[in-house]
Amino acid sequence: MQDFEYYTPTHVVFGKHAVERVGELITGQNGKKVLIHYGGGSAKRSGLLDRVTDALEQSGISYVMLGGVVPNPRLGLVREGIALCKREGVDFILAVGGGSVIDSSKAIAYGIANDGDVWDFYAKKRVPQACAPVGTILTIAAAGSEMSNSSVITNEDGWLKRGLSTELCRCKFAIMDPTLTYTLPAYQTASGAADVMMHTMERYFTQVDTLGLTDSIAESLLKSVMRDVTAALKNPEDYDARAGLMWASSLSHNGLTGCGTDGGDWSCHQLEHELSGKYDVAHGAGLCAVWSSWARTVMPANPARFAKFAIQVMGVQPGADDIETANRGIDAMEAFFQSIGMPVRINQMGIELTEEDMRELAYKCSFMDTRKIGRFVPLDKEAIYKVYQKAKA
Ligand code: NAP
Ligand code: FE
Repeated sequence: MQDFEYYTPTHVVFGKHAVERVGELITGQNGKKVLIHYGGGSAKRSGLLDRVTDALEQSGISYVMLGGVVPNPRLGLVREGIALCKREGVDFILAVGGGSVIDSSKAIAYGIANDGDVWDFYAKKRVPQACAPVGTILTIAAAGSEMSNSSVITNEDGWLKRGLSTELCRCKFAIMDPTLTYTLPAYQTASGAADVMMHTMERYFTQVDTLGLTDSIAESLLKSVMRDVTAALKNPEDYDARAGLMWASSLSHNGLTGCGTDGGDWSCHQLEHELSGKYDVAHGAGLCAVWSSWARTVMPANPARFAKFAIQVMGVQPGADDIETANRGIDAMEAFFQSIGMPVRINQMGIELTEEDMRELAYKCSFMDTRKIGRFVPLDKEAIYKVYQKAKA
């Protein structure tokens, strides 16, 4: 087990009437002028935005609004948001939506608290020194951005999707009412659950000796999500299933399931970011499309770890040796992803990759052949290309 720091400063308010607390929570952060940032319309259609503006008005908090965040949020809207906030004197950003809205909000918050071009931080040219306060009302269990230290933005110039992780951007509060997720389409429910699982799986597949407790938490979280997503797909208004998914979304990405590990592998996220950056697929679906190809590539480096996963998480019968057990586990996870309507190959998302496409994806994923991705087995440009090739169809 390795030394670790665990920092989760986000005030979580969880439950059916949590939205009513929004005014009080912003006032508690000294927010006087708020940007309400939201997506493509689901929060408007559900009446959530009206509830939020009513609550702010009752608390005497003034606000401006900016909608239009798309999945895989764009730098263009971030820049628009920064300009709006500067013009209006905004001092608090309220993200009403999912990971895309929260990440866009975090980027705007970096932009108003630092001079210069905000993309510099995502391009790793500069390190941000500050971040304006962000709070969220979460509407989808998926990215975990409500408690994570990350933000992922896509630059339309070159369709580069890049993440930025610092402790500065953690949400001050996260309002989580599971009933807000009842309106999610099945595909988004499943894709979100897959992302939740992958945040723990990226941490679980490590070469270091982990803490038994951390493994147990991770295994239990994965089994809970598999149970809850299956139930939520059957009955979208199953409160306990939606609540389980929502809380798992946060716990899976606030560091808890990685305590004592080396921080995790994260190859699948890097592989997927190239796919959603270029082809605009749902992030969780993209992760499912590459996971088993990645797993089959790296498993021989530590079959025992995959065998543990197979038995503890997927509940498979042990095979003759670790490799056989490990392969059964990978097959079982693939079957599970399919059972919730997720792709397990890239062509199942309607993308027919050419040789040239795969070379380009590998080039971009390796940061123009300057880095390896992953810790379980570090993958260079050629190895990345081979995973895409395996995952293609
Ligand atoms: P999302 O992109 O925020 O939302 C996905 C879709 O779900 C949108 O079309 C949205 O529509 C819809 N939606 C959301 N809530 C809804 C509701 N209650 N009812 C009906 N529709 C609803 O999903 P996400 O998976 O949370 O975020 C994905 C992004 O997060 C990706 O860019 C990914 O790379 C990133 N990510 C970030 C982190 C991090 O730590 N920062 C970690 C992993 C992934 P509307 O636009 O109409 O609301
Ligand atoms: Fe993710």
